[in-house]
Amino acid sequence: MTDKKELRYKRVILKISGESCKYEERSSPVDMYSPLSKEIAPEIAEIHKKGVEIGVVLGGGNIVRGRDLKNVDKKTADEMGMNATVINSLYLYDLLKKLGVDSRVMTATEMKEIAELYIRKRAVRHMEKGRIVILAGGLGKTGFTTDTAASHRAWELNAQAVLKGTKIDGLYKTYPPKKTGNPVKEITYRETMKLGAQDILDLAALGFLAQEKSDIVIHIFDIFKKGNLTKLMLGEEVGTRIISDKKVNDTP
Ligand code: UDP
Repeated sequence: MTDKKELRYKRVILKISGESCKYEERSSPVDMYSPLSKEIAPEIAEIHKKGVEIGVVLGGGNIVRGRDLKNVDKKTADEMGMNATVINSLYLYDLLKKLGVDSRVMTATEMKEIAELYIRKRAVRHMEKGRIVILAGGLGKTGFTTDTAASHRAWELNAQAVLKGTKIDGLYKTYPPKKTGNPVKEITYRETMKLGAQDILDLAALGFLAQEKSDIVIHIFDIFKKGNLTKLMLGEEVGTRIISDKKVNDTP
Protein backbone atom coordinates (compact mmCIF):
# COMPACT_ATOMS: atom_id res chain seq x y z
CA MET A 1 0.00 0.00 0.00
CA THR A 2 1.25 3.45 -0.78
CA ASP A 3 0.50 6.42 1.42
CA LYS A 4 0.22 9.46 -0.79
CA LYS A 5 -1.10 11.69 2.00
CA GLU A 6 2.23 12.10 3.68
CA LEU A 7 3.90 13.28 0.48
CA ARG A 8 4.60 16.92 -0.18
CA TYR A 9 4.18 16.53 -3.93
CA LYS A 10 2.44 14.08 -6.23
CA ARG A 11 4.69 14.61 -9.24
CA VAL A 12 8.23 15.97 -9.30
CA ILE A 13 11.18 16.38 -11.59
CA LEU A 14 14.37 15.46 -9.84
CA LYS A 15 17.46 17.13 -11.27
CA ILE A 16 20.74 15.55 -10.25
CA SER A 17 24.21 16.73 -11.23
CA GLY A 18 26.27 14.37 -13.33
CA GLU A 19 28.97 14.52 -10.62
CA SER A 20 26.82 12.09 -8.62
CA CYS A 21 27.85 9.29 -11.00
CA LYS A 22 31.55 9.62 -10.05
CA TYR A 23 33.34 8.29 -7.02
CA GLU A 24 35.82 10.73 -5.55
CA GLU A 25 39.04 10.85 -7.51
CA ARG A 26 38.61 7.56 -9.36
CA SER A 27 38.98 8.04 -13.08
CA SER A 28 35.80 6.38 -14.33
CA PRO A 29 33.05 8.94 -14.90
CA VAL A 30 30.46 6.30 -13.98
CA ASP A 31 31.37 4.30 -10.92
CA MET A 32 29.73 1.56 -8.89
CA TYR A 33 30.82 3.29 -5.67
CA SER A 34 29.36 6.62 -6.71
CA PRO A 35 26.78 8.47 -4.60
CA LEU A 36 24.24 7.82 -7.35
CA SER A 37 24.74 4.12 -7.12
CA LYS A 38 25.22 3.78 -3.36
CA GLU A 39 22.74 6.25 -1.93
CA ILE A 40 20.76 8.30 -4.39
CA ALA A 41 19.24 5.55 -6.56
CA PRO A 42 18.06 3.58 -3.48
CA GLU A 43 16.54 6.77 -2.10
CA ILE A 44 14.77 7.47 -5.40
CA ALA A 45 13.40 3.91 -5.23
CA GLU A 46 12.24 4.56 -1.66
CA ILE A 47 10.28 7.74 -2.43
CA HIS A 48 8.89 6.14 -5.57
CA LYS A 49 7.52 3.33 -3.41
CA LYS A 50 5.64 5.92 -1.39
CA GLY A 51 3.67 6.81 -4.52
CA VAL A 52 5.30 9.93 -5.90
CA GLU A 53 5.51 10.22 -9.69
CA ILE A 54 9.07 10.98 -10.70
CA GLY A 55 10.88 12.26 -13.75
CA VAL A 56 14.66 12.37 -13.41
CA VAL A 57 16.95 14.69 -15.32
CA LEU A 58 20.60 13.78 -14.86
CA GLY A 59 23.32 16.21 -15.84
CA GLY A 60 26.42 15.27 -17.78
CA GLY A 61 29.09 17.30 -15.98
CA ASN A 62 31.05 14.20 -14.92
CA ILE A 63 31.79 13.58 -18.61
CA VAL A 64 31.33 16.78 -20.60
CA ARG A 65 29.99 20.19 -19.70
CA GLY A 66 29.78 22.21 -22.90
CA ARG A 67 31.18 25.45 -21.50
CA ASP A 68 34.26 23.69 -20.05
CA LEU A 69 35.50 22.37 -23.41
CA LYS A 70 37.37 25.47 -24.47
CA ASN A 71 39.04 23.96 -27.52
CA VAL A 72 35.84 22.58 -29.08
CA ASP A 73 33.24 24.55 -30.98
CA LYS A 74 30.56 25.45 -28.40
CA LYS A 75 27.67 23.83 -30.29
CA THR A 76 29.59 20.60 -30.80
CA ALA A 77 30.62 20.68 -27.14
CA ASP A 78 26.95 21.02 -26.16
CA GLU A 79 26.06 18.07 -28.39
CA MET A 80 28.75 16.08 -26.59
CA GLY A 81 27.29 17.22 -23.26
CA MET A 82 23.81 16.08 -24.23
CA ASN A 83 25.18 12.66 -25.12
CA ALA A 84 26.94 12.54 -21.77
CA THR A 85 23.55 12.85 -20.07
CA VAL A 86 22.34 9.84 -22.07
CA ILE A 87 25.24 7.74 -20.73
CA ASN A 88 24.36 8.73 -17.16
CA SER A 89 20.67 8.11 -17.75
CA LEU A 90 21.31 4.58 -18.97
CA TYR A 91 23.39 4.00 -15.87
CA LEU A 92 20.55 5.17 -13.64
CA TYR A 93 18.15 2.92 -15.55
CA ASP A 94 20.37 -0.04 -14.75
CA LEU A 95 20.64 0.91 -11.07
CA LEU A 96 16.88 1.28 -10.74
CA LYS A 97 16.29 -2.01 -12.52
CA LYS A 98 18.52 -3.78 -10.00
CA LEU A 99 16.45 -2.21 -7.25
CA GLY A 100 13.29 -3.60 -8.83
CA VAL A 101 12.01 -0.24 -10.06
CA ASP A 102 10.42 0.02 -13.45
CA SER A 103 11.77 2.99 -15.42
CA ARG A 104 12.08 4.23 -19.00
CA VAL A 105 14.84 6.30 -20.53
CA MET A 106 13.36 8.87 -22.90
CA THR A 107 15.78 10.83 -25.07
CA ALA A 108 15.18 14.34 -26.38
CA THR A 109 16.59 13.38 -29.78
CA GLU A 110 16.05 10.12 -31.56
CA MET A 111 18.28 7.21 -30.48
CA LYS A 112 15.72 4.56 -31.09
CA GLU A 113 17.90 1.48 -30.73
CA ILE A 114 18.82 2.62 -27.24
CA ALA A 115 15.85 4.41 -25.75
CA GLU A 116 12.42 5.84 -26.47
CA LEU A 117 12.02 9.28 -27.95
CA TYR A 118 10.63 11.77 -25.44
CA ILE A 119 6.99 12.41 -26.22
CA ARG A 120 5.21 14.45 -23.58
CA LYS A 121 2.01 12.43 -23.44
CA ARG A 122 3.92 9.16 -23.33
CA ALA A 123 6.07 10.42 -20.50
CA VAL A 124 2.92 11.32 -18.55
CA ARG A 125 1.47 7.89 -19.26
CA HIS A 126 4.61 6.17 -17.99
CA MET A 127 4.47 8.14 -14.77
CA GLU A 128 0.77 7.42 -14.32
CA LYS A 129 1.56 3.75 -14.71
CA GLY A 130 4.08 3.97 -11.91
CA ARG A 131 7.24 4.09 -14.01
CA ILE A 132 10.02 6.53 -13.37
CA VAL A 133 10.92 8.43 -16.51
CA ILE A 134 14.57 9.27 -16.99
CA LEU A 135 14.66 12.30 -19.26
CA ALA A 136 17.92 12.13 -21.17
CA GLY A 137 19.61 14.45 -23.63
CA GLY A 138 18.44 17.70 -22.04
CA LEU A 139 16.13 19.61 -24.33
CA GLY A 140 17.94 18.26 -27.36
CA LYS A 141 19.09 21.79 -28.21
CA THR A 142 22.48 23.38 -27.89
CA GLY A 143 22.84 26.47 -25.74
CA PHE A 144 20.89 25.04 -22.82
CA THR A 145 21.68 23.09 -19.67
CA THR A 146 19.95 20.28 -17.88
CA ASP A 147 18.62 22.80 -15.32
CA THR A 148 16.60 24.39 -18.07
CA ALA A 149 15.59 20.95 -19.32
CA ALA A 150 14.37 20.10 -15.81
CA SER A 151 12.25 23.24 -15.47
CA HIS A 152 10.89 22.89 -18.98
CA ARG A 153 9.97 19.23 -18.49
CA ALA A 154 8.42 20.04 -15.11
CA TRP A 155 6.22 22.62 -16.79
CA GLU A 156 5.32 20.36 -19.70
CA LEU A 157 4.60 17.34 -17.52
CA ASN A 158 2.62 19.29 -14.91
CA ALA A 159 5.01 18.51 -12.09
CA GLN A 160 4.59 20.56 -8.94
CA ALA A 161 8.27 20.92 -8.21
CA VAL A 162 11.81 20.65 -9.47
CA LEU A 163 14.07 19.13 -6.84
CA LYS A 164 17.54 20.26 -7.75
CA GLY A 165 19.91 17.93 -5.93
CA THR A 166 23.41 19.30 -5.86
CA LYS A 167 26.38 19.45 -3.49
CA ILE A 168 25.33 22.80 -2.02
CA ASP A 169 22.94 22.89 0.91
CA GLY A 170 20.90 25.78 -0.45
CA LEU A 171 21.05 29.45 -1.40
CA TYR A 172 22.58 32.01 0.95
CA LYS A 173 21.72 35.71 1.18
CA THR A 174 24.86 36.56 -0.75
CA TYR A 175 26.46 35.06 -3.78
CA PRO A 176 29.14 33.69 -3.85
CA PRO A 177 27.90 32.29 -0.54
CA LYS A 178 29.57 33.47 2.65
CA LYS A 179 28.80 30.38 4.61
CA THR A 180 27.67 31.93 7.83
CA GLY A 181 24.39 30.78 9.29
CA ASN A 182 21.97 28.64 7.36
CA PRO A 183 20.74 28.83 3.80
CA VAL A 184 17.58 30.85 3.25
CA LYS A 185 14.46 28.72 3.55
CA GLU A 186 12.39 30.53 0.97
CA ILE A 187 13.12 33.02 -1.78
CA THR A 188 11.25 34.11 -4.88
CA TYR A 189 12.18 33.58 -8.53
CA ARG A 190 12.89 37.29 -8.90
CA GLU A 191 15.06 37.54 -5.79
CA THR A 192 17.04 34.50 -6.97
CA MET A 193 17.64 36.10 -10.34
CA LYS A 194 18.88 39.24 -8.58
CA LEU A 195 21.21 37.14 -6.46
CA GLY A 196 22.72 35.86 -9.70
CA ALA A 197 23.64 32.41 -8.40
CA GLN A 198 24.18 31.13 -11.93
CA ASP A 199 26.58 28.37 -10.83
CA ILE A 200 24.00 26.93 -8.48
CA LEU A 201 21.00 27.20 -10.76
CA ASP A 202 20.99 28.15 -14.42
CA LEU A 203 18.95 31.33 -14.35
CA ALA A 204 17.50 30.56 -17.77
CA ALA A 205 15.58 27.77 -16.01
CA LEU A 206 14.01 30.34 -13.71
CA GLY A 207 13.46 32.87 -16.46
CA PHE A 208 11.45 30.31 -18.38
CA LEU A 209 9.19 29.49 -15.42
CA ALA A 210 8.74 33.18 -14.59
CA GLN A 211 7.78 33.95 -18.16
CA GLU A 212 5.18 31.16 -18.10
CA LYS A 213 3.82 32.51 -14.78
CA SER A 214 4.35 29.07 -13.39
CA ASP A 215 3.69 27.97 -9.80
CA ILE A 216 6.41 25.33 -9.87
CA VAL A 217 8.58 25.33 -6.77
CA ILE A 218 12.32 24.75 -7.18
CA HIS A 219 14.14 23.21 -4.25
CA ILE A 220 17.91 23.51 -4.03
CA PHE A 221 19.30 20.93 -1.64
CA ASP A 222 22.30 18.76 -0.89
CA ILE A 223 21.45 15.41 -2.44
CA PHE A 224 24.79 13.96 -1.32
CA LYS A 225 23.60 14.05 2.27
CA LYS A 226 21.87 10.78 2.94
CA GLY A 227 18.18 11.06 3.72
CA ASN A 228 17.74 14.62 2.41
CA LEU A 229 15.66 13.62 -0.60
CA THR A 230 13.25 11.62 1.54
CA LYS A 231 13.01 14.38 4.15
CA LEU A 232 12.26 16.93 1.47
CA MET A 233 9.52 14.74 -0.01
CA LEU A 234 7.98 14.27 3.42
CA GLY A 235 7.68 18.02 3.92
CA GLU A 236 10.68 18.72 6.14
CA GLU A 237 12.73 21.90 5.76
CA VAL A 238 15.68 20.93 3.59
CA GLY A 239 17.69 23.46 1.60
CA THR A 240 16.04 26.41 -0.13
CA ARG A 241 12.62 26.72 -1.72
CA ILE A 242 12.39 29.05 -4.68
CA ILE A 243 8.81 30.10 -5.16
CA SER A 244 7.03 31.93 -7.91
CA ASP A 245 6.55 35.67 -7.53
CA LYS A 246 3.03 35.04 -8.71
CA LYS A 247 2.46 32.95 -5.58
CA VAL A 248 3.68 35.79 -3.38
CA ASN A 249 1.56 38.33 -5.21
CA ASP A 250 -1.47 36.05 -5.04
CA THR A 251 -1.25 35.73 -1.25
CA PRO A 252 -4.11 37.78 0.27
N1 UDP B 1 23.29 20.47 -22.81
C1 UDP B 1 22.78 21.12 -23.94
N2 UDP B 1 21.43 21.25 -24.05
C2 UDP B 1 20.56 20.80 -23.11
C3 UDP B 1 21.10 20.17 -21.96
C4 UDP B 1 22.46 20.02 -21.85
O1 UDP B 1 23.50 21.55 -24.82
O2 UDP B 1 19.34 20.96 -23.27
C5 UDP B 1 24.75 20.24 -22.72
C6 UDP B 1 25.53 21.43 -22.16
O3 UDP B 1 26.78 21.47 -22.81
C7 UDP B 1 25.73 21.02 -20.71
C8 UDP B 1 25.94 19.53 -20.84
O4 UDP B 1 25.00 19.15 -21.85
O5 UDP B 1 26.84 21.65 -20.12
C9 UDP B 1 25.73 18.71 -19.60
O6 UDP B 1 24.65 19.18 -18.83
P1 UDP B 1 24.85 20.05 -17.49
O7 UDP B 1 25.97 20.99 -17.61
O8 UDP B 1 23.52 20.65 -17.18
O9 UDP B 1 25.22 18.91 -16.42
P2 UDP B 1 25.49 19.00 -14.86
O10 UDP B 1 26.40 20.19 -14.61
O11 UDP B 1 24.18 19.20 -14.17
O12 UDP B 1 26.11 17.69 -14.50
